[in-house]
Amino acid sequence: VSVQSAEAVPERTVWLTYPGPEATEAKARIVERSAQWRRSGALKGLALWLLIPVVVFVPPHIPWVLIVLAVGAIRAWGRWNEHATLLSLRGPCPKCGTDQQFAETGRMKFPHKVTCASCRWDLQVHVAPPAGVTSR
Ligand SMILES: [Zn+2]
Repeated sequence: VSVQSAEAVPERTVWLTYPGPEATEAKARIVERSAQWRRSGALKGLALWLLIPVVVFVPPHIPWVLIVLAVGAIRAWGRWNEHATLLSLRGPCPKCGTDQQFAETGRMKFPHKVTCASCRWDLQVHVAPPAGVTSR
């Protein structure tokens, strides 16, 4: 298991948009995940299922089995779909201009949404310059 520290990943430019005409440039640290990383992460999630023969002996039996099945499947599904991980994101909000460090890191969704701490607008993170918007 390779643990990649946030400092080892260089910052790159991303763009923040909201349902309006302006976009801002922000700085993000993004780790692209390989198919092998996703596969081994998914298998680790499914490895929880190995606990089933143990928990099945704990009353009330069936609920434990269902919980372990569900948690293992959810973790495996999350890893399998984690194509990129957002380690950090900072920049100005395109709506109100507040410079901030965004907290919504982790598994990157496409589109990835973050919320401005100041104006509470939902912002979208773009890894390429969005078309049809003007830089603020
Ligand atoms: Zn804002």
